[in-house]
Amino acid sequence: MNRIAAFVLSLSVALPGAAVAAGFDVVTLGARGGIEDGNLSAFLISPQGDPRGVACDVGALVNGLRVAEAKGAFDSVAVPADSPYTRIGYMLAENVKGYLVSHAHMDHIAGLIAASPDDTKKPIYALPSVNADISSTYFNWDAWPNFGDRGKEPQLKKYAMRDLTPGAKTALDGTAMSVTAFPLAHSGVESTAFLIETGDDAILCFGDTGPDEVEKSTAIADIWTAVAGKVSDGKLKAVIIETSYTNAQPDKSLFGHLTPAWLLKSLRGLEEKAGRGSLKDLPVVISHIKYSLKKGAPPQDDILKELVAGNDVGAKFIIPEQGMKWSF
Ligand SMILES: [Zn+2]
Ligand SMILES: [Zn+2]
Repeated sequence: MNRIAAFVLSLSVALPGAAVAAGFDVVTLGARGGIEDGNLSAFLISPQGDPRGVACDVGALVNGLRVAEAKGAFDSVAVPADSPYTRIGYMLAENVKGYLVSHAHMDHIAGLIAASPDDTKKPIYALPSVNADISSTYFNWDAWPNFGDRGKEPQLKKYAMRDLTPGAKTALDGTAMSVTAFPLAHSGVESTAFLIETGDDAILCFGDTGPDEVEKSTAIADIWTAVAGKVSDGKLKAVIIETSYTNAQPDKSLFGHLTPAWLLKSLRGLEEKAGRGSLKDLPVVISHIKYSLKKGAPPQDDILKELVAGNDVGAKFIIPEQGMKWSF
């Protein structure tokens, strides 16, 4: 090999670690809020071109990795020849570096629980109330062995339960990202939105939430205040947020969830803080729509129609399907 070729090779080998991160890769491990087991809320988020990421909610995990692998989402991930793992196993063991759990409802953690016996050691990042619920509800030796590092003995300590302080930035171990947690009101349960950052770029991943007006809360408005500057500067690359019901759902039956009308109203509040036109083409990924067992158009069709019809902020609404990958 001549000297220039060797230099180019060393440069290309050095680049992945040293590259200045720009944006995110997002793989949908679970697209729905119910009722299809194996496809519940979970988004694998990593810096663009860097496979080391975290899952924002873990309703699905191994099945999500399996479907994503089949759709080519991990084609660029090379499994070392001496690794005992398939690419799905390698992703779980080596590249899923931790979990962000918005709240302990089963549809947001079932994938983590199911995979835990074969998972590798890594942190679970959550608000204190959520980690307490995970320990008492699942890792209690009754529902499941205690794979955590708190609660009932013996503690298997596979998962280091890390309590996040609202509004405080925490490094995500083993990744080039950090996270800041914001509490959400979810019909009496504390849920969480996670602001994930790499370099100057950020992405917001919401757990279940009701509208501020219905929850008698300022939780979502406070998050908009916190991120308005990043929206104005174009540093917020995408928002993942739920819209569980169509506009036909009455407010008294929201059970801590959003409709298209409520999401649009909230986004107008963000635009007010970030500046007119600031949400133009902002990708907004709509999570937590239920899989329907009924004949006729699936609910995601109606929800997307209602979002598009009221979209005076110019956001780019995306209905995810399991295994889809985007670069934002
Ligand atoms: Zn849910
Ligand atoms: Zn929930």
